[in-house]
Amino acid sequence: MLNSCEGKSVVVTGASKGIGKGIAAVFARHGAKVLVVARNLEQADACASELRAGGGQVSAFGGDVTKRSDMDEMTRVAVERNGGIDILCANAGIFPQSKLEDMSGADWDTVLSTNVKGMHFSIQATLPALKRSRCGRIVLTSSITGPVTGFPGWAHYGASKAAQLGFMRTACIELAKYGITINAVLPGNIKTEGLADLGADYERTMAASIPLKRLGTVDDIGYAAMFLASDQAGYITGQTLIVDGGQTLPESLEALNQA
Ligand code: NAP
Repeated sequence: MLNSCEGKSVVVTGASKGIGKGIAAVFARHGAKVLVVARNLEQADACASELRAGGGQVSAFGGDVTKRSDMDEMTRVAVERNGGIDILCANAGIFPQSKLEDMSGADWDTVLSTNVKGMHFSIQATLPALKRSRCGRIVLTSSITGPVTGFPGWAHYGASKAAQLGFMRTACIELAKYGITINAVLPGNIKTEGLADLGADYERTMAASIPLKRLGTVDDIGYAAMFLASDQAGYITGQTLIVDGGQTLPESLEALNQA
């Protein structure tokens, strides 16, 4: 039973909906003090009050991961409200689609600055508090798209998700002397508001390509994040955990259909 997050202070970026909300909900259910972060404060507040109604100790902060000053203020608020920061879930990310022939410099900058620079800013800003924790944990939300698979329209997104892992493999060495671990969850296709924007056809064809024959839930990712953040995972650092219902494994459609 993983109960080591009880009483810990957890910051989850990109948590007003989708996977981040799922991660926040799992930690809150297990007794952590959670700060839900998103640009839209009203939505972050609505998420926090929904999670509080389920018994969690949750509050909201309106901030943009691409702005270092917002991340500094987020850290100050988390420390003031929750007594420090033990766990950062750097989850905020965007996945607009654009075929590479049409992809503009602005498209690249938007995706890379949120998914990679924003991740870095959130880590850099929370680092002093994570060091004080003495058992600091960072959990990144990467993706199967990029590090393992590809999908048309997501060359920039895939590059950003692979970049997170390149960052992690050096960060884990730099952070080890503080007792801080950093690991990444690689979700497959998870039912979120952001994914719903891609349309019903996308969801249907994706579900058909997954051995477990369903999209993942935000809880599936929340529990993986909670494991990587637990005391029991204290010797795991710089590693990836794919949570995809087996989607990356079939060699062909035939392999799927024969199963
Ligand atoms: P989502 O439903 O669109 O939710 C995204 C969340 O991030 C929202 O709370 C959004 O709120 C926040 N956000 C976006 N830009 C931000 C910024 N600059 N600063 C702070 N918060 C920001 O997305 P999701 O599907 O849950 O995806 C979350 C993460 O999982 C992303 O990193 C994504 O790459 C990864 N992922 C998702 C899937 C999937 O199948 N859904 C699969 C693999 C990986 P505001 O707009 O108010 O800021």
